[in-house]
Amino acid sequence: MTFQDFNFKDTLNQAIDDAGFKEPSPVQADAIPLILEGHDLIGQAQTGTGKTAAFGLPIIQQMVGNKGVEALVIVPTRELAMQVSDELFRFGKTAGLKTATVYGGTPYNRQIERINQANIIVATPGRLQDLLKSNRIKINPNFVVLDEADEMLDMGFLDEIKNIFTYLPEERQTLMFSATMPKQIKILAEKILKSPKSVTITKSERTNTDITQLFYVVAEYERDDALLRLIDYKNPNKCIVFCRMKKEVDRLSSYMTAQGFKVAALHGDMEQKQREHTIRSFKQGLVEIFIATDVAARGLDVNDVSHVFNYHIPFDSESYVHRIGRTGRAGNKGEAITLVSPNELRTIKRIEKDVGTVMISEVIPTRQEVQSRKDGDLLSKIADTKISASAKDMVKTLQHDIDIVTIAHLLATIVQEEIDVKGKDIIGLGTEEVKALIERAKNFKGGDRNRSGGRGRSRNRSRSGGRNRDRGGREGDRRGGGDKRSSGGNRDSRNGGSSRNSRDRGNR
Ligand code: ADP
Ligand code: MG
Repeated sequence: MTFQDFNFKDTLNQAIDDAGFKEPSPVQADAIPLILEGHDLIGQAQTGTGKTAAFGLPIIQQMVGNKGVEALVIVPTRELAMQVSDELFRFGKTAGLKTATVYGGTPYNRQIERINQANIIVATPGRLQDLLKSNRIKINPNFVVLDEADEMLDMGFLDEIKNIFTYLPEERQTLMFSATMPKQIKILAEKILKSPKSVTITKSERTNTDITQLFYVVAEYERDDALLRLIDYKNPNKCIVFCRMKKEVDRLSSYMTAQGFKVAALHGDMEQKQREHTIRSFKQGLVEIFIATDVAARGLDVNDVSHVFNYHIPFDSESYVHRIGRTGRAGNKGEAITLVSPNELRTIKRIEKDVGTVMISEVIPTRQEVQSRKDGDLLSKIADTKISASAKDMVKTLQHDIDIVTIAHLLATIVQEEIDVKGKDIIGLGTEEVKALIERAKNFKGGDRNRSGGRGRSRNRSRSGGRNRDRGGREGDRRGGGDKRSSGGNRDSRNGGSSRNSRDRGNR
């Protein structure tokens, strides 16, 4: 099948050519003819399958182009609004069509002006409802698209969407796209679509190759330290930590909150409203760490989760696949990190076999290793920062009493204190020990708890040889680190939050 088969107008064919599209993607091949025939449609396909063109091209083909807003596309987020709007603009501009992007957080007047001139608008639910309810705009689109419907449900926009439809004309063609079809979406579809056709593009459920899978062997009592250190080192954009039980979710949430992170817990007992609110905060970046049980995180689709942590390895392989699939979405790279105790190594081997995947064993970075990485980040940040006027004033004031080199040293010390790496120096087992344990796990079938656990505790000796660790650093840690742990005062630098965050964002 080619794009010629759709008999599009010349201007549209030109736009497709300009976009460099050679042939329709599967969802386009299936959906375009149905939309051209005027049917309502439910399209189910994963991200990146070309849904925008699947609805955009046939809608633009049918548009007249001289009667205000003819097409309305509703999308969950501002980013998507801009993305979809850009793509539709590309397809429509050869026909002289104008697009407007509508989302919250920007002034009304300019937005309304643009809407009044537009043929196509792409909007997020909140602002759109706002504009319609307050009578600031009146639109009569013949084409209405709900893009990423399941995501809108997850973000708690269901009520807004239902409300928006009360302002839309009865006489219209409605298209709904969604990667998954939860019950509430099906119910919504029955309400807003008229005898819809459906198009489903299935992608075989394989393990995502964009996810790096790592595991770390730690003693049972080291899990908290290990998680903290790894988060410190990996510097996740957003991460999800999976626990086995609600009780563990609650405990770990309090612990990580006390460490100064913005944490939200998600478990099965939560009410839908509360759950939606929490997920929304996570999507909007108000929460950095999501701590969840398997059940609670089912179907969770957040695009920019950089890391998934398994605080405990899940019991079954299916859960493992499901958990790690929360990262590496939408073509992004992701990392799945599993903490295991020595006697859980056999579970690793079993999951690898079941899933047909390989998990790589790594050693938890020492304080020094984390510190060096952070220092490096800090240096490049200093090199990249623009000097502000108030900073100049401050240095001028300081220079009355202190020489410039000392000032620099003082400032560097202050900043370094803020990024001080917490916790004991060495956490978890070293490479050689893990290797030996894996061998044992292969050979021994029976329970081996006590022996492997004991090995874990005596690991330091065998480890320092293999890994070039700084013994001095470890001593220093025993002195200072131990005190810091319980004092709490030092942690406050982290609780400030803002410094940590601005730094983190800047580094990425
Ligand atoms: P989805 O909405 O399904 O996530 P998009 O519509 O955003 O996917 O499309 C993903 C990318 O693929 C976009 O960059 C788009 O321009 C491109 N694309 C879409 N259809 C085609 C096609 N037929 N040929 C080549 N590239 C395409
Ligand atoms: Mg899309």
